[in-house]
Amino acid sequence: MSLPIVILPTAEKWDCHQCGICCRGSLVPLNDADVARLESQKWNEHPDYRDTPVMVRYPSSKKRFRLAQRIDGSCVFLKDNGLCRIHSDLGYEAKPTICRVFPLQLIPRDGNAALTIRRACPSSAADKGSPLKEHLPFMQQFVREGRLTTKRVDPPSLKTGEDREWKTVALALETASELLLDQRFPPVRRLVHTLQFASLLSKAKTKRMDDKKLGDLISTLAEIVPEESKPFFSDRQPPGAYAKLLFRSIGIEYARLHPQFRAVPSWSHRVELGRTWFRLVLGRGRLPDVRPAFPLAKWNDLEEPLGQLAPSIDYPLARLIEASSASYIYALADRRGWSVVDSIRGLVATFPIGLWLLRWASIGREPTTEDMIQIVVALDRGQGFAPLTGQLQRLRLHLLANNNELERLIVWYAR
Ligand code: SF4
Repeated sequence: MSLPIVILPTAEKWDCHQCGICCRGSLVPLNDADVARLESQKWNEHPDYRDTPVMVRYPSSKKRFRLAQRIDGSCVFLKDNGLCRIHSDLGYEAKPTICRVFPLQLIPRDGNAALTIRRACPSSAADKGSPLKEHLPFMQQFVREGRLTTKRVDPPSLKTGEDREWKTVALALETASELLLDQRFPPVRRLVHTLQFASLLSKAKTKRMDDKKLGDLISTLAEIVPEESKPFFSDRQPPGAYAKLLFRSIGIEYARLHPQFRAVPSWSHRVELGRTWFRLVLGRGRLPDVRPAFPLAKWNDLEEPLGQLAPSIDYPLARLIEASSASYIYALADRRGWSVVDSIRGLVATFPIGLWLLRWASIGREPTTEDMIQIVVALDRGQGFAPLTGQLQRLRLHLLANNNELERLIVWYAR
Protein backbone atom coordinates (compact mmCIF):
# COMPACT_ATOMS: atom_id res chain seq x y z
CA MET A 1 0.00 0.00 0.00
CA SER A 2 1.28 3.49 -0.87
CA LEU A 3 2.05 5.88 1.97
CA PRO A 4 0.53 9.39 2.00
CA ILE A 5 2.93 12.11 0.88
CA VAL A 6 3.61 14.87 3.43
CA ILE A 7 5.34 18.22 3.21
CA LEU A 8 7.51 19.14 6.18
CA PRO A 9 7.40 22.57 7.79
CA THR A 10 10.94 23.44 6.66
CA ALA A 11 9.88 25.81 3.84
CA GLU A 12 12.08 24.38 1.07
CA LYS A 13 12.09 26.09 -2.33
CA TRP A 14 13.30 25.22 -5.82
CA ASP A 15 12.85 25.77 -9.54
CA CYS A 16 15.16 24.51 -12.28
CA HIS A 17 17.41 27.29 -13.61
CA GLN A 18 18.95 24.97 -16.23
CA CYS A 19 22.57 25.22 -15.12
CA GLY A 20 23.23 21.59 -16.19
CA ILE A 21 25.17 20.80 -13.00
CA CYS A 22 23.05 17.72 -12.25
CA CYS A 23 24.28 16.15 -15.50
CA ARG A 24 27.91 16.41 -14.34
CA GLY A 25 29.40 14.57 -11.39
CA SER A 26 26.08 13.10 -10.12
CA LEU A 27 25.44 9.37 -9.95
CA VAL A 28 21.99 8.56 -11.36
CA PRO A 29 20.52 5.28 -10.01
CA LEU A 30 18.12 3.42 -12.30
CA ASN A 31 15.06 1.45 -11.23
CA ASP A 32 13.89 -1.70 -13.06
CA ALA A 33 11.54 0.30 -15.33
CA ASP A 34 14.38 2.69 -16.26
CA VAL A 35 16.64 -0.23 -17.17
CA ALA A 36 13.90 -1.80 -19.32
CA ARG A 37 13.16 1.57 -21.00
CA LEU A 38 16.83 2.24 -21.79
CA GLU A 39 17.22 -1.29 -23.20
CA SER A 40 14.15 -0.79 -25.41
CA GLN A 41 15.68 2.47 -26.71
CA LYS A 42 18.50 0.36 -28.26
CA TRP A 43 21.33 2.79 -27.61
CA ASN A 44 23.81 0.02 -28.44
CA GLU A 45 22.74 0.45 -32.10
CA HIS A 46 23.36 4.22 -32.05
CA PRO A 47 26.72 5.11 -33.69
CA ASP A 48 27.85 7.11 -30.62
CA TYR A 49 27.15 4.28 -28.16
CA ARG A 50 28.18 1.13 -30.02
CA ASP A 51 31.31 0.80 -27.89
CA THR A 52 30.07 2.85 -24.95
CA PRO A 53 27.76 1.28 -22.35
CA VAL A 54 25.00 3.61 -21.19
CA MET A 55 24.45 1.77 -17.88
CA VAL A 56 26.87 0.30 -15.35
CA ARG A 57 26.31 -1.96 -12.36
CA TYR A 58 26.96 -0.75 -8.83
CA PRO A 59 30.02 -2.57 -7.42
CA SER A 60 28.06 -3.32 -4.21
CA SER A 61 25.14 -5.00 -6.01
CA LYS A 62 25.19 -6.79 -9.32
CA LYS A 63 21.42 -6.26 -9.67
CA ARG A 64 21.48 -2.46 -9.43
CA PHE A 65 22.40 -0.14 -12.27
CA ARG A 66 23.17 3.55 -12.72
CA LEU A 67 23.71 5.74 -15.76
CA ALA A 68 27.26 5.52 -17.12
CA GLN A 69 29.52 8.55 -16.92
CA ARG A 70 32.30 9.81 -19.13
CA ILE A 71 35.84 9.98 -17.80
CA ASP A 72 35.28 13.60 -16.63
CA GLY A 73 32.22 12.56 -14.58
CA SER A 74 29.60 13.94 -16.98
CA CYS A 75 26.55 11.86 -17.94
CA VAL A 76 27.08 9.64 -20.98
CA PHE A 77 23.99 11.27 -22.55
CA LEU A 78 25.11 14.90 -22.04
CA LYS A 79 25.67 16.56 -25.42
CA ASP A 80 28.26 19.26 -26.22
CA ASN A 81 25.46 21.85 -26.33
CA GLY A 82 24.56 21.04 -22.69
CA LEU A 83 21.33 19.20 -23.60
CA CYS A 84 20.34 15.65 -22.73
CA ARG A 85 20.46 13.31 -25.74
CA ILE A 86 17.56 11.15 -24.51
CA HIS A 87 15.43 14.26 -24.02
CA SER A 88 16.30 15.85 -27.35
CA ASP A 89 16.04 12.60 -29.41
CA LEU A 90 13.12 10.85 -27.68
CA GLY A 91 11.46 13.43 -25.41
CA TYR A 92 11.17 14.12 -21.70
CA GLU A 93 9.10 10.97 -20.97
CA ALA A 94 11.92 8.76 -22.24
CA LYS A 95 14.37 9.90 -19.54
CA PRO A 96 15.17 7.87 -16.39
CA THR A 97 12.93 8.58 -13.40
CA ILE A 98 15.52 10.44 -11.31
CA CYS A 99 16.33 12.76 -14.24
CA ARG A 100 12.65 13.71 -14.43
CA VAL A 101 12.11 14.39 -10.76
CA PHE A 102 15.54 15.61 -9.54
CA PRO A 103 16.08 17.32 -7.11
CA LEU A 104 12.65 16.41 -5.69
CA GLN A 105 12.78 13.27 -3.58
CA LEU A 106 10.30 11.14 -1.66
CA ILE A 107 11.50 9.59 1.58
CA PRO A 108 9.26 6.69 2.66
CA ARG A 109 9.18 6.69 6.47
CA ASP A 110 7.02 5.32 9.24
CA GLY A 111 3.42 6.02 8.14
CA ASN A 112 4.16 8.62 5.45
CA ALA A 113 6.55 9.60 2.66
CA ALA A 114 8.19 13.01 3.13
CA LEU A 115 8.62 15.13 0.04
CA THR A 116 11.91 16.97 0.19
CA ILE A 117 14.44 18.63 -2.12
CA ARG A 118 18.01 17.37 -2.56
CA ARG A 119 20.53 20.18 -2.21
CA ALA A 120 22.86 18.79 -4.86
CA CYS A 121 21.33 21.46 -7.12
CA PRO A 122 22.58 25.07 -6.71
CA SER A 123 19.04 26.44 -7.01
CA SER A 124 17.70 24.31 -4.13
CA ALA A 125 20.92 24.83 -2.12
CA ALA A 126 20.10 28.55 -2.34
CA ASP A 127 16.33 28.01 -1.76
CA LYS A 128 15.71 29.70 -5.10
CA GLY A 129 12.31 29.10 -6.67
CA SER A 130 8.76 28.02 -5.85
CA PRO A 131 7.78 26.60 -2.46
CA LEU A 132 7.90 22.83 -2.25
CA LYS A 133 4.11 22.53 -1.94
CA GLU A 134 3.77 23.77 -5.53
CA HIS A 135 5.70 20.69 -6.70
CA LEU A 136 3.48 18.33 -4.72
CA PRO A 137 0.87 17.70 -7.49
CA PHE A 138 3.67 16.74 -9.93
CA MET A 139 5.05 14.15 -7.51
CA GLN A 140 1.57 12.86 -6.61
CA GLN A 141 0.90 12.34 -10.31
CA PHE A 142 4.17 10.41 -10.64
CA VAL A 143 3.18 8.12 -7.79
CA ARG A 144 -0.37 7.66 -9.18
CA GLU A 145 1.11 6.58 -12.51
CA GLY A 146 3.24 3.98 -10.69
CA ARG A 147 6.58 5.55 -11.72
CA LEU A 148 7.64 6.08 -8.12
CA THR A 149 6.65 4.02 -5.11
CA THR A 150 6.09 5.20 -1.58
CA LYS A 151 6.01 1.76 0.00
CA ARG A 152 6.80 1.36 3.66
CA VAL A 153 10.47 0.56 4.25
CA ASP A 154 12.12 -1.22 7.17
CA PRO A 155 13.73 1.12 9.69
CA PRO A 156 17.52 1.34 9.89
CA SER A 157 19.06 -0.21 12.99
CA LEU A 158 19.21 2.11 15.98
CA LYS A 159 22.85 1.35 16.66
CA THR A 160 25.25 -1.36 15.58
CA GLY A 161 23.67 -4.76 16.15
CA GLU A 162 20.42 -3.37 17.57
CA ASP A 163 17.28 -3.44 15.42
CA ARG A 164 14.15 -1.80 16.81
CA GLU A 165 10.64 -1.19 15.59
CA TRP A 166 9.86 1.96 13.59
CA LYS A 167 8.28 3.74 16.55
CA THR A 168 11.51 3.69 18.56
CA VAL A 169 13.76 4.51 15.58
CA ALA A 170 11.45 7.39 14.62
CA LEU A 171 11.63 8.71 18.19
CA ALA A 172 15.45 8.72 18.03
CA LEU A 173 15.37 10.52 14.64
CA GLU A 174 12.80 13.02 15.86
CA THR A 175 14.85 13.70 19.00
CA ALA A 176 17.99 14.29 16.89
CA SER A 177 15.99 16.64 14.67
CA GLU A 178 14.66 18.60 17.67
CA LEU A 179 18.17 18.95 19.08
CA LEU A 180 19.49 20.19 15.74
CA LEU A 181 16.70 22.75 15.42
CA ASP A 182 16.53 23.85 19.07
CA GLN A 183 16.48 27.65 18.71
CA ARG A 184 17.42 28.19 22.37
CA PHE A 185 21.03 27.44 21.43
CA PRO A 186 23.41 28.72 18.73
CA PRO A 187 24.00 26.32 15.77
CA VAL A 188 27.40 25.02 16.89
CA ARG A 189 26.02 24.07 20.31
CA ARG A 190 23.06 22.29 18.71
CA LEU A 191 25.42 20.16 16.61
CA VAL A 192 27.51 19.21 19.64
CA HIS A 193 24.33 18.39 21.64
CA THR A 194 23.17 16.10 18.82
CA LEU A 195 26.51 14.34 18.66
CA GLN A 196 26.53 13.86 22.41
CA PHE A 197 23.02 12.41 22.16
CA ALA A 198 24.29 9.90 19.57
CA SER A 199 27.35 9.04 21.69
CA LEU A 200 25.37 8.51 24.89
CA LEU A 201 22.80 6.43 23.03
CA SER A 202 25.55 4.36 21.49
CA LYS A 203 27.23 3.71 24.86
CA ALA A 204 24.03 2.96 26.82
CA LYS A 205 23.34 -0.72 27.56
CA THR A 206 19.99 -0.92 25.79
CA LYS A 207 19.95 -4.39 24.27
CA ARG A 208 17.68 -5.90 26.92
CA MET A 209 15.48 -2.81 27.36
CA ASP A 210 11.91 -2.94 26.13
CA ASP A 211 10.81 -0.18 23.73
CA LYS A 212 9.00 1.77 26.47
CA LYS A 213 12.13 1.97 28.65
CA LEU A 214 14.28 2.81 25.66
CA GLY A 215 11.86 5.59 24.69
CA ASP A 216 12.18 7.03 28.22
CA LEU A 217 15.95 6.82 27.99
CA ILE A 218 15.97 8.68 24.63
CA SER A 219 13.92 11.50 26.19
CA THR A 220 16.21 11.67 29.23
CA LEU A 221 19.34 11.83 27.05
CA ALA A 222 17.87 14.75 25.10
CA GLU A 223 17.39 16.63 28.39
CA ILE A 224 20.89 16.09 29.74
CA VAL A 225 23.00 16.72 26.62
CA PRO A 226 23.17 20.55 26.98
CA GLU A 227 24.83 20.08 30.38
CA GLU A 228 27.03 17.19 29.17
CA SER A 229 28.27 19.35 26.25
CA LYS A 230 29.40 22.37 28.30
CA PRO A 231 33.07 21.28 28.63
CA PHE A 232 33.52 21.46 24.83
CA PHE A 233 32.90 25.20 25.02
CA SER A 234 34.45 26.07 28.40
CA ASP A 235 37.70 24.21 27.64
CA ARG A 236 38.20 24.35 23.86
CA GLN A 237 40.73 21.70 22.86
CA PRO A 238 42.00 21.45 19.28
CA PRO A 239 41.38 18.06 17.63
CA GLY A 240 44.20 15.52 17.88
CA ALA A 241 46.63 14.72 15.03
CA TYR A 242 44.95 11.42 14.06
CA ALA A 243 41.51 13.14 14.09
CA LYS A 244 42.76 15.80 11.69
CA LEU A 245 44.20 13.11 9.42
CA LEU A 246 40.87 11.24 9.27
CA PHE A 247 38.98 14.50 8.86
CA ARG A 248 41.16 15.66 5.96
CA SER A 249 40.77 12.32 4.19
CA ILE A 250 36.97 12.82 4.35
CA GLY A 251 37.32 16.46 3.25
CA ILE A 252 39.27 15.47 0.13
CA GLU A 253 36.52 13.02 -0.88
CA TYR A 254 33.95 15.83 -0.65
CA ALA A 255 36.24 18.25 -2.54
CA ARG A 256 36.09 15.90 -5.53
CA LEU A 257 32.30 16.32 -5.59
CA HIS A 258 32.50 20.09 -6.08
CA PRO A 259 30.48 20.97 -9.21
CA GLN A 260 33.47 22.73 -10.81
CA PHE A 261 35.80 19.74 -10.39
CA ARG A 262 36.55 17.75 -13.55
CA ALA A 263 38.38 14.48 -13.02
CA VAL A 264 40.90 13.80 -15.78
CA PRO A 265 42.58 10.52 -14.80
CA SER A 266 46.09 10.15 -16.19
CA TRP A 267 49.38 8.73 -14.95
CA SER A 268 50.62 12.13 -13.82
CA HIS A 269 47.31 12.59 -12.01
CA ARG A 270 47.76 9.24 -10.22
CA VAL A 271 51.34 10.07 -9.20
CA GLU A 272 50.11 13.44 -7.90
CA LEU A 273 47.34 11.66 -5.97
CA GLY A 274 49.90 9.36 -4.32
CA ARG A 275 51.96 12.39 -3.28
CA THR A 276 48.80 14.03 -1.96
CA TRP A 277 48.09 11.13 0.40
CA PHE A 278 51.71 11.24 1.60
CA ARG A 279 51.38 14.97 2.34
CA LEU A 280 47.98 14.36 3.94
CA VAL A 281 49.54 11.92 6.42
CA LEU A 282 52.24 14.45 7.26
CA GLY A 283 49.70 17.29 7.34
CA ARG A 284 52.22 19.50 5.53
CA GLY A 285 52.77 20.88 2.05
CA ARG A 286 50.30 21.43 -0.77
CA LEU A 287 46.70 20.30 -0.99
CA PRO A 288 45.81 18.37 -4.16
CA ASP A 289 45.34 20.45 -7.30
CA VAL A 290 41.58 20.46 -7.90
CA ARG A 291 41.38 23.74 -9.78
CA PRO A 292 39.11 25.38 -10.78
CA ALA A 293 36.95 23.97 -7.95
CA PHE A 294 39.47 25.12 -5.30
CA PRO A 295 42.61 27.29 -5.57
CA LEU A 296 46.09 25.98 -4.82
CA ALA A 297 46.62 25.97 -1.05
CA LYS A 298 48.57 24.36 1.77
CA TRP A 299 47.08 22.12 4.45
CA ASN A 300 48.03 24.61 7.14
CA ASP A 301 46.11 27.41 5.39
CA LEU A 302 42.89 25.62 6.31
CA GLU A 303 43.61 25.76 10.04
CA GLU A 304 43.28 29.55 10.21
CA PRO A 305 40.08 31.00 11.78
CA LEU A 306 37.36 32.12 9.37
CA GLY A 307 35.98 34.76 11.73
CA GLN A 308 32.35 35.85 11.84
CA LEU A 309 30.51 34.88 8.66
CA ALA A 310 27.65 36.88 7.15
CA PRO A 311 24.29 35.11 7.78
CA SER A 312 23.84 34.68 4.00
CA ILE A 313 27.02 32.51 3.94
CA ASP A 314 25.98 30.36 6.91
CA TYR A 315 22.47 29.93 5.54
CA PRO A 316 22.92 27.24 2.81
CA LEU A 317 24.89 24.94 5.15
CA ALA A 318 22.43 25.43 8.03
CA ARG A 319 19.52 24.71 5.66
CA LEU A 320 21.17 21.53 4.36
CA ILE A 321 21.37 20.17 7.91
CA GLU A 322 17.91 21.42 8.84
CA ALA A 323 16.13 19.93 5.80
CA SER A 324 18.07 16.64 6.03
CA SER A 325 17.20 16.16 9.67
CA ALA A 326 13.52 17.07 9.26
CA SER A 327 12.99 14.61 6.38
CA TYR A 328 15.30 11.88 7.84
CA ILE A 329 16.85 11.62 4.36
CA TYR A 330 20.32 11.33 5.88
CA ALA A 331 19.36 8.21 7.85
CA LEU A 332 17.16 6.52 5.24
CA ALA A 333 19.45 6.96 2.24
CA ASP A 334 20.80 3.73 0.82
CA ARG A 335 23.83 3.07 3.06
CA ARG A 336 24.08 -0.58 3.89
CA GLY A 337 24.90 -1.35 7.51
CA TRP A 338 24.65 2.25 8.77
CA SER A 339 22.72 2.71 12.00
CA VAL A 340 20.90 5.85 13.15
CA VAL A 341 23.91 6.66 15.36
CA ASP A 342 26.29 6.38 12.35
CA SER A 343 24.01 8.54 10.21
CA ILE A 344 23.77 11.28 12.86
CA ARG A 345 27.57 11.40 12.94
CA GLY A 346 27.68 11.58 9.13
CA LEU A 347 25.16 14.43 8.99
CA VAL A 348 26.79 16.49 11.73
CA ALA A 349 30.26 15.99 10.20
CA THR A 350 29.11 17.89 7.10
CA PHE A 351 29.24 21.09 9.17
CA PRO A 352 33.01 21.18 9.93
CA ILE A 353 33.74 19.71 6.47
CA GLY A 354 31.69 22.53 4.90
CA LEU A 355 33.65 25.17 6.83
CA TRP A 356 36.98 23.49 6.02
CA LEU A 357 36.07 23.53 2.31
CA LEU A 358 34.95 27.16 2.62
CA ARG A 359 38.42 28.07 3.94
CA TRP A 360 39.91 26.33 0.92
CA ALA A 361 37.56 27.93 -1.62
CA SER A 362 38.27 31.42 -0.28
CA ILE A 363 42.06 31.34 0.19
CA GLY A 364 43.39 34.91 -0.10
CA ARG A 365 39.95 36.55 -0.22
CA GLU A 366 36.67 36.85 1.66
CA PRO A 367 34.30 33.84 1.45
CA THR A 368 31.05 34.40 -0.43
CA THR A 369 27.54 32.93 -0.39
CA GLU A 370 28.20 31.44 -3.85
CA ASP A 371 31.25 29.56 -2.44
CA MET A 372 29.00 28.02 0.19
CA ILE A 373 26.24 27.12 -2.29
CA GLN A 374 28.72 25.16 -4.41
CA ILE A 375 30.09 23.45 -1.29
CA VAL A 376 26.58 22.46 -0.20
CA VAL A 377 26.06 20.89 -3.64
CA ALA A 378 29.21 18.81 -3.00
CA LEU A 379 28.09 17.87 0.53
CA ASP A 380 24.69 16.71 -0.69
CA ARG A 381 26.27 14.72 -3.53
CA GLY A 382 28.14 12.79 -0.84
CA GLN A 383 24.86 10.98 -0.07
CA GLY A 384 25.23 8.89 -3.21
CA PHE A 385 29.03 8.63 -3.40
CA ALA A 386 30.44 5.19 -2.52
CA PRO A 387 33.60 6.40 -0.67
CA LEU A 388 31.35 8.44 1.64
CA THR A 389 28.57 5.90 2.15
CA GLY A 390 30.51 2.68 2.63
CA GLN A 391 32.07 0.86 5.54
CA LEU A 392 35.35 2.83 5.44
CA GLN A 393 33.49 6.09 5.96
CA ARG A 394 31.46 4.53 8.76
CA LEU A 395 34.69 3.42 10.42
CA ARG A 396 36.25 6.89 10.01
CA LEU A 397 33.22 8.49 11.69
CA HIS A 398 33.27 5.89 14.44
CA LEU A 399 36.96 6.60 15.15
CA LEU A 400 36.31 10.35 15.14
CA ALA A 401 33.38 9.94 17.52
CA ASN A 402 35.60 8.03 19.95
CA ASN A 403 37.19 10.39 22.45
CA ASN A 404 34.80 13.12 21.24
CA GLU A 405 37.08 14.23 18.40
CA LEU A 406 34.10 15.03 16.17
CA GLU A 407 32.84 17.53 18.74
CA ARG A 408 36.31 19.13 18.87
CA LEU A 409 36.43 19.34 15.07
CA ILE A 410 33.09 21.17 15.03
CA VAL A 411 34.21 23.72 17.61
CA TRP A 412 37.66 24.10 15.93
CA TYR A 413 36.45 24.75 12.39
CA ALA A 414 33.56 26.96 13.54
CA ARG A 415 36.18 29.57 14.64
S1 SF4 B 1 21.27 21.35 -11.08
FE1 SF4 B 1 19.22 22.14 -10.56
S2 SF4 B 1 19.01 24.09 -11.63
FE2 SF4 B 1 20.74 23.00 -12.54
S3 SF4 B 1 19.84 21.89 -14.30
FE3 SF4 B 1 19.83 20.46 -12.56
S4 SF4 B 1 17.81 20.73 -11.57
FE4 SF4 B 1 18.11 22.50 -12.96
